Parts: sequence; C-alpha cells; structure tokens
Amino acid sequence: MKKPPSILALIFTSTACLFGLWFWWQTSTNPTAAWSRFELLNASGATARALGHGNQSIALWEKSGVDAEDLAAKKLKLARAEEIAGSAERSVALYRQVLQSQWVSTLSARKKNNIKRRVARLELLQGKIQESSPFLVEILDRTGDEATIFEKNIGQHQPSGDLLFLLDARDLVAESLPPVANGEVLIGNDEERLAAAADFVTLGGFYAKINQGDYAAAGLLAAAYETRSSLLGQADSDTVHSVLLLGPVYERLGRLNEAEKLYLAVMHAQEKAQGPNNPELSLYLRLLANVYSLQGRFTEAEALNVHIRRLFGDAYGGRRYVANQNHDRRLDINRPVSINFPLPEDYKAPDIVAASEYEIPLSKPPEVEEMHIRLAAELGEDGRNMPEQLKALLSLCAENSGQYLSLRSGYRSFETQTWLFDQTDHHGKVTRPGTSEHQLGLGVDIDVDYRLMRNSDRAYQCFEAHGWQYGFILSYPKGNKYLDGADTYEPWHWRYVGNQTARLYREIGPLNKPQEFLAALPCYEERARAGIWTSAGDVDICLDTQRYAPNRAVISASPRWDDTPNSEQNQQGGRP
Ligand SMILES: [Zn+2]
Repeated sequence: MKKPPSILALIFTSTACLFGLWFWWQTSTNPTAAWSRFELLNASGATARALGHGNQSIALWEKSGVDAEDLAAKKLKLARAEEIAGSAERSVALYRQVLQSQWVSTLSARKKNNIKRRVARLELLQGKIQESSPFLVEILDRTGDEATIFEKNIGQHQPSGDLLFLLDARDLVAESLPPVANGEVLIGNDEERLAAAADFVTLGGFYAKINQGDYAAAGLLAAAYETRSSLLGQADSDTVHSVLLLGPVYERLGRLNEAEKLYLAVMHAQEKAQGPNNPELSLYLRLLANVYSLQGRFTEAEALNVHIRRLFGDAYGGRRYVANQNHDRRLDINRPVSINFPLPEDYKAPDIVAASEYEIPLSKPPEVEEMHIRLAAELGEDGRNMPEQLKALLSLCAENSGQYLSLRSGYRSFETQTWLFDQTDHHGKVTRPGTSEHQLGLGVDIDVDYRLMRNSDRAYQCFEAHGWQYGFILSYPKGNKYLDGADTYEPWHWRYVGNQTARLYREIGPLNKPQEFLAALPCYEERARAGIWTSAGDVDICLDTQRYAPNRAVISASPRWDDTPNSEQNQQGGRP
C-alpha cells in the first residue's frame, strides 16, 4: 500500500516537530538531557550556546533537591565554560560553590590551587581586591621563602607558578585601589574589615619589597592604615605596623607630604601612649626628621634630632657614650662586613657557643654548625651576652606578635660559607665567602612560623622597634648595596653589635646605613663623647671622611681592629 508523498511529508514534518518539542521539553525539564546538550555544545567549541543548557540543568537539579556535593564536579565544568565565555561574575560564583563543597577535597592540591588562582584573578579583573585578597595571601604563603628571597633569585631560577601569579597581579592590585589614604576602602563589619586589613598588610609588605611593587603596596597599605586607624586608633601596634610599611613606600614614590602626615600621627599617638620621655619614640622621630630633611626643612629636622638626643640623654645619661671605649671594639663585635669590607680567609670567630645551651628556639638540629652563635659577652651595664639577649628579644617578639620565632642560621665558618656559595653557582641566595656577617657569628637569620621573617610580620615590627634595646640592628635595609645583587633587602637578617653601638646607631647613626655607620663608628663615638653633632642638612662628617670610606680592602683580623679602641689610627676600616 502506497501513501501519497504529501502524507509522508506531513508525517515526517510532524514527527520532526514532535521530536523538536520533545527535545525542547526534555532539555528544559530534564536536567540530564540539558547537561548532555551542554557537554556536546561545549565540546564542539560552541561555548556561548552551551552555557544556557548548562545553567538550566544545574538550576533544575538544584530545584529537584539534588545534593550540592553531587553537583560540584558539574559546576566546575560550567565555571570553566563561563570563564572562557568571559562571564567573570558567574564563573566566580560557581568556583566558590565548588570550593565550599566537600567534593573539592577529592581533587589534587595542584587542581585546588588552580581554582583559587582563577578566582583571585577573576576577582582582580573586576577590581574586587578585598574579595580576592584571602586567596592572594594563601598563594603568597604557599611560596614560603621563595617570595621572601625573590630579589636575590632574579635571573637564576624560574619562579614558581604561584610567585609568577603574584608578580602578574601587581598592576591589577595597583589599579584596584586608591594609592593614598583617603577614606575607608574596606567594607563589611569591623571584624571583616580588620581581617581584610591584615591581608592587605601581608600583600603590601610583599609588593613593597619587590621591584616596581610600590604602587600596589601603596594602595594596599593605605587602605589597611585607614581601616586600622579608624577602628583601632593611632596608637595601636597594628596601626603603627601599617605606618612603618607605608611610610617608606610614600618616600620612595616622592609623596613626602603623605609620609609626613603618617609619621606625625603615629608619633603623637606614641607620645601619649609611652610618655613623652621614652627613647622608643626615636623610631618615629627619626623617620619624620628624615622626611623633613628630604623636603629641605632642616630647622624642623634638627629640632627633632635634638629631641632624640635629649630622650637618650635622659634615659641613659653620659654613660651611653663612654662605655664603648672599654669593650665593644675589643671584642670586634662592631666590625663592618660586606663586599666592601670582606673578612680575611683565615678569620676565625672566637667564643662560638651552641645556641641550644641558651634555650634559643632552633629551626635545625642543635649540633649543626649554623645553630651556633657568638657569646660576645657584654662587660658593661647588665653584662648580658649575645645568646641571652637574642633569647630575650625572641621571646619578647614572639609574645608581642603571637608568632613562633626561631633561629634559622647563625654562625658559618669560611669553609661552610664557601661550600654554600659553590652550591648556588656563585650567585644569589648565598653571600660570597668573606662578606657574610654569619662568619662573625653575629648575624642571625630569623624564622617566623618556620619560614624566613618578612617585613609584613608583626614580629618584624617588634624587632624594628625593640632590636636596639638588645644590641641588634637590621643589616640589610631596603635598597642597600652591601652584598652581590641589585637590592639585598633581608628583613630576616639581624646583626648583633652590642647594646651601646645599637643605641648609638638609633640615636645619631645615618638612617638605614648600618655598614657605613659601623665603618665610621670611631668617628661617631668620638663626636658623641665630645658632644659635636652634625646638624640636619649638613654633610655628615663621619660619613664624608675619606678615612672611613670603603675601599674593598680586607680588614685585618689583627689587633688593629681589636684593641686600643680610642686611637683613630687603629680604626681605619677598610685599610689593608
Ligand atoms: Zn643572614
């Protein structure tokens, strides 16, 4: 039996229509069908058309009460498709749902991190820095020491994906935030805003440390400062911490007025909190005096210098100058060591002791050479030796910061330093033999929570504020040229010089020039004893004197440097 072709066509058309209807009905009411359609279109590259089906099926499943755990894997696929199609907001929402699911724990750590990097990047692209900051901090934490010592590694090692990610994010971070403190940026309740401020300080500290990171650092730290000062007050130590990081960034960017405002605010608050006669105020007074000098406001800078000397004079009296004649130099604990002042090959540090004997928390087994330090007994005042003072400083700052502090590296012999140096292709991470303070047994690298100390650590702020009271100074400030490498800023490396030298450095030493100061120490001591000060705006005669200029020559280990402390002839740092 034959049917007319028109009927066949009709049947065919209606079947096709019915199928179409059925298909439409299926994909809009049956999530499995919609999902298949999504996967098919997505696989064929028609991502934009696939998305409707994907979202539809997820919505249907959710409506029908399917467990969120069972959908996580599908949401991850859909999030990726949304990301490729350029819908940042929807893909972030999906990624976040995936991260909140239990299912995510079935993924490898690498895959999980990858999702977090994607979220952080997408949030940054939308200018949502506060939302992305917890992930950025997590990524930074994961880099461990790598991000901390990054400057020294340039050109040698391929940075990890995490570090590259953070470097790439630098400009997006800078664009997301106003570069100066001008009203509160962080949103949420107080607790959320303070948590974000803490993240911003961690990130800001990282960007402030690296090349071309100052714009990103300024935005992050300014936002953190505003929030902290309004919620915690100017005198709070967290607020001070943001100032100590932000101020120098402003100085480098030439925003001296903003730096001045910050230092002034914090100085007045500290004056109120600590009393007007506390020499600890010198930290802020010196920073402010330096800004005034940079602005050419020398009268104001000089008034602050006089004020600093009065604070020290009131607290310590005349003995702050005389005692150095008797002991520090004899123990050679003040000698400068750098590429300009290398140690002789046969230099042997005396009185090396095991740090474990003094109950100093260690990062390595106690018998390791690096877990030894100099005794460097102080003869004057309270007569404490170096290990005792290190222990006291570590416990003070551990308590202040709530962080775990331990000795990462102390004494290294010439042989050890040479061996370490050879391991690293004669560049970077390890200092050239003869130029390391570790060979003196007086340089210590400090670990915070089992990684190198960072400038953004609360413990670092504590060292900055109190180190001098225990005889420690920061050896390698930002921008120094003491070691091989462009900038060998090492916030983790602290040098013992004894209480009186550290105090003198805080009181009248050149800001952030510890090696120059040590090289010219006899000059500073003499001038201090004689009460002859360099006025703000004048050339610092001690630094200017040719006699103390570094000349790359080896400082003899002989008594030239070690005894008869009061004779200038014996203190020509840098002469062979
Ligand atoms: Zn070190």
